[in-house]
Amino acid sequence: MTESLQLHLSAYQADILRQAAAAAYPHECCGLLVGEGESAIVITEIVPTTNTADDPRRGFSINPQAQFDLLRRVRAGRGRVVGHYHSHPDGRAIPSSHDLAMAYDPEAIWVVMAASAGTASQPKAFRHTHDIDGFAEIPVAISP
Ligand SMILES: [Zn+2]
Repeated sequence: MTESLQLHLSAYQADILRQAAAAAYPHECCGLLVGEGESAIVITEIVPTTNTADDPRRGFSINPQAQFDLLRRVRAGRGRVVGHYHSHPDGRAIPSSHDLAMAYDPEAIWVVMAASAGTASQPKAFRHTHDIDGFAEIPVAISP
């Protein structure tokens, strides 16, 4: 059940995500998230990746080689790739219709930040659910 899920970030990790979103502006930033846990998912590593989208101002595409390398590295240790993050330049911190068209993995956590010049919103988290055929928000707990 998506409702019982919670995503845990440290304040430092939230800052890293916001800084990535602000630095990439007016492009979308993107990257992968490694974490542990089932209903309370604790992020243990943020892995920035190159946005390989044709137009990185209006979409993101995670470098497949970076994804492959991370999956292989994580398999050897603790944790797993729990999802990914990206930003919406001059947009809102919610998944777009473009994101919905790309959503196929019901387990993947989508972290989204709204970005403008030099600043970005706190990260929000979502997961695609076939129940509502859309994204459901997951509460994000940011610890000091
Ligand atoms: Zn998006």
